[in-house]
Amino acid sequence: MIVFRTKAELARFASETRRAGKVIGLVPTMGYLHAGHMSLVDTARSKADVVIVTLFVNPTQFGPNEDLDRYPRDFERDRKMCEEHGVDVLFAPEAAEMYAPGSSTWIEETDLARPLCGASRPGFYRGVTTVVGKLFHLAQPDFACFGLKDAQQCFVIERMVRDLDFQVKIVPCPLIRDADGLALSSRNRYLSADERSRALSIHKALLEGRRALEEQGTKDVSGICAKAAAAITAAGGRVDYVEALDRATLKAPTAETREVLLAAAAFFGTTRLIDNELVELEA
Ligand code: AMP
Repeated sequence: MIVFRTKAELARFASETRRAGKVIGLVPTMGYLHAGHMSLVDTARSKADVVIVTLFVNPTQFGPNEDLDRYPRDFERDRKMCEEHGVDVLFAPEAAEMYAPGSSTWIEETDLARPLCGASRPGFYRGVTTVVGKLFHLAQPDFACFGLKDAQQCFVIERMVRDLDFQVKIVPCPLIRDADGLALSSRNRYLSADERSRALSIHKALLEGRRALEEQGTKDVSGICAKAAAAITAAGGRVDYVEALDRATLKAPTAETREVLLAAAAFFGTTRLIDNELVELEA
């Protein structure tokens, strides 16, 4: 496995790889890798000749009062995990390498990025789409894997690719959970044992919501979301949002809605966790 620290090295490697007719699969991450990330890597490995993993805690997607400085990092551990999973290239730049001084150009998706995390984290998706666009230019992937743990992010990136004609296929990958149901996240390491067990309420509440949606459809989404929020609050969480939106529009469900994104964000202690269920409705 090769480790690149500069954009120039990555871009040269990608151009040569494409000239040789090889298929490039990309997995963008912020590192502190876990089995959720590695499932994306394994998917990429099964479809690509060359797998590129990027490891970059992207400052432009963090708000001023968020956890950029304390975001967990362990390069050696990440490097080993990538090697063990057959990654060809690990791209791990510093922020100063990634962004030219005075960088003033953004990619901004302005529809799907509005609700949910877009509403509670202003500037977050603009940071995500900008860095992912840059990584697409540099790594020139045929396809890129994104996890449905971050379902809205995945949909925003699909829209960006469509709207801006990136020649990249987006491969959405299933959400991976711990045995007890907690969605795997690098941020889980912030949780105390007590917070972690309380945080299981998010998944439980969303599963309850899923059952209600499957049984009743979307006639009472606000009741379903209120019930889920109350269950998370009762477990000691501070709910940021629980919402049930049309998966295609990320707006309130209508008679046309075929699939619902039931999504939640909640703080346990100072740690903000997100989770979701994608619920197909009976035709
Ligand atoms: P992150 O490092 O948190 O930015 O995540 C990098 C990629 O891994 C994103 O596409 C995430 O959606 C994906 N990912 C993170 N956690 C999980 C998980 N538990 N299951 C599936 N994919 C995940």
